[in-house]
Amino acid sequence: MQTSIIGYPRIGQNRELKFWTEDYFNGKITQDELLDNAKTLRLRQLKKQHDSGITYIPSGDFSFYDHILDMSVLLGIVPKRYRDLSLNPLDTYFAMAKGYQGVAGDVKALTLRKWFNTNYHYIVPEIEDDTAIAVSDHKIFDELAHAKAHHLPTKPVITGAFTLLKLARFPGAKKARGFVDACVAAYVELLARLERLGAEWIQIDEPYLVTDLSSDDIRLFHQIYGALLKHKGTTKILLQTYFGDVRDVYQEMIALPFDGIGLDFIEGRQTLLLIERYGFPKDKTLFAGIVNGKNIWRNDYEKSLQLLRTLKHSVDDVVVSTSCSLLHVPYTVNAEPLLDETLKKRFSFAEEKLEELHTLGFLADEKDHHLHPLYRNNVALMRQIQHNVDEEVRLRVNNLKEADYIRLPDRLTRAPLQKERLNLPLLPTTTIGSFPQTKEVRQNRAAYKKGDISREQYQEKLDHFIADCVRFQETLSLDVLVHGEFERNDMVEYFGEHLSGFLFTKAAWVQSYGTRCVKPPIIFKDVRRQAPMTVDVSRYAQSLTDKPMKGMLTGPITILNWSFPREDISPEAMATQIALAIRDEVLDLERAGIKIIQIDEAALREKLPLRQSDWRQDYLGWAIPAFRLTASGVKPETQIHTHMCYSEFNDIIEDIDAMDADVISFEASRSSLSILNAIRQSGFETEVGPGVYDIHSPRVPSVDEMVTAIRAILKVIAKDKVWINPDCGLKTRGNEETALSLKNMIAATMRVRQTLED
Ligand code: GLN
Ligand code: ZN
Repeated sequence: MQTSIIGYPRIGQNRELKFWTEDYFNGKITQDELLDNAKTLRLRQLKKQHDSGITYIPSGDFSFYDHILDMSVLLGIVPKRYRDLSLNPLDTYFAMAKGYQGVAGDVKALTLRKWFNTNYHYIVPEIEDDTAIAVSDHKIFDELAHAKAHHLPTKPVITGAFTLLKLARFPGAKKARGFVDACVAAYVELLARLERLGAEWIQIDEPYLVTDLSSDDIRLFHQIYGALLKHKGTTKILLQTYFGDVRDVYQEMIALPFDGIGLDFIEGRQTLLLIERYGFPKDKTLFAGIVNGKNIWRNDYEKSLQLLRTLKHSVDDVVVSTSCSLLHVPYTVNAEPLLDETLKKRFSFAEEKLEELHTLGFLADEKDHHLHPLYRNNVALMRQIQHNVDEEVRLRVNNLKEADYIRLPDRLTRAPLQKERLNLPLLPTTTIGSFPQTKEVRQNRAAYKKGDISREQYQEKLDHFIADCVRFQETLSLDVLVHGEFERNDMVEYFGEHLSGFLFTKAAWVQSYGTRCVKPPIIFKDVRRQAPMTVDVSRYAQSLTDKPMKGMLTGPITILNWSFPREDISPEAMATQIALAIRDEVLDLERAGIKIIQIDEAALREKLPLRQSDWRQDYLGWAIPAFRLTASGVKPETQIHTHMCYSEFNDIIEDIDAMDADVISFEASRSSLSILNAIRQSGFETEVGPGVYDIHSPRVPSVDEMVTAIRAILKVIAKDKVWINPDCGLKTRGNEETALSLKNMIAATMRVRQTLED
């Protein structure tokens, strides 16, 4: 059986591309050096794929920043303000990606947006009224030709016109429909040129097809491909989808003259059902995405081969493929010398997935595959999963009752008890938790981690940072203080390191956007708290002040969403285990005298399913209860806060209120105030702290500016429900600007308070 991959990571095993690109930005290497280095990297990766026996190797999936930006540039979708800089093509490209400030002008970057349900971010194409869509770049052709010159036949990968138009912004009067003809003409030209260069197959990615489609969307899809496929030459066209199933357009898709159709069997819950119900045309090839492109676990061969056998009933020609691009997994398990050998065997990163595909393709053709050692080893490996179980944790989860998720008394009853105990002024002021992570703060942690300083030395310094931070907040007259989070490198990593069941890698980087990469922890067995994680720092910080000290925790959904999850138990089960661990910490903090506890859910929205119809059943239905479980055990007078890094929760506002926190803070300074109206209209009970200034910029907001922001909030929300805070943690900011900004924030609050009191 033949094999295919949809795309490959491009940052390099040691993040080479990131460092070269940054060197280029800093003028340390020339453009030619950057281009040459990238070329070598590409060739090495293509060879790797070829040597692994993959039949359909992608080209053009490489990118210096983002593949959607590449596609925009390929089609000449470059807004005028970037063209006007008159930079060379690569610098124009980078200007669109990250903005430009220099002799040629001053422009901001294009918008960055989350790529479907992944942690990757793409650059939003911006199509202006006078944008002339036409083939305008040669990268895709060069990469195909370069591979070919090394005797590596590849299938060029492009993003389809439907997805591109759906993801684009149209700042002018013309919308997607106005660009369909030009788009089709450009794609016709593009396909013809790829054909002339000898491409046997072309992969057209249309991930947007897995979302909820309207009848207008389906018409647009038809309009594009009806026209485009009329000009089809001899090169075969693969319509590739991923991140879900295509239930809204399956029948339309298979009726069009594509040569291959790529479907996702991992996230596409209805994929098999669609094939069984509507059949699959005899003249087409099915690229079956059965190796998970998003997660890092070994494929279960027994399951996959069973699926391939089932498919044989309906499909004549099957190619084994990944479920999505391998962009979303790290390079190789071999870069992890510290990982336990038996554990290592259970992981499969990009390189290992190449082997898996090849093996699956081979075993699928074997008559007695179950006798083959590759198969038997895999079956044995899958059995090891039983070691993941922690009986005590399981028992605790099983014994949970409805009542464990309900905090009593209800929010409106406990609010006055908390007000009385905390005795805070109107518009209480606070921060989101972290204070600037200065060089000294980071050095202290690094030195301790490396073993250069003792636990005592580390602790002594840490106590100093905390004491300074508390004193500083007191001089500012903030009402609710924090300890500053100086012991944390990252809000998920810190907890992952203190809980059992998490594993940390040395080099398992995944691209988040441009040159930014993340290294998510891996959840590999049942999670439990081994010992209190934050109680000492919170208790110490509280001992330094009479003002309330906020305990600071990361919530279960954020911890889960920013990790590689297990595949042997459900996300719900993982979330519940983590929630129980956090719950224990909450109760310990309460016992230690902490009166306010904040449980951050920065990433709650991130894994919201792509289809709205799945939101409640597949996600919110267990995610919100997991949060409730963390907090439901506290006394009525203990106040629970939560924080979210965005304000676009209009559409899930009732679910947010149902978290049953007493106070929620969120980012509102950069976005419109529409969320405030939604809060009022929905009868939202939770008190709110809509961030009054943007911490993502070093700019110091003026007192007047923040007075205006606070007044705007008070126009919509009752004054006894409003908190005043920045819109996120301050850890990326410097000390000086933080001091000035907070001082202004307090001054603005005082000024508004005066007008409220009389
Ligand atoms: N408490 C965290 C901090 O202040 C919250 C960070 C976040 O929301 N991303 O850093
Ligand atoms: Zn935040």
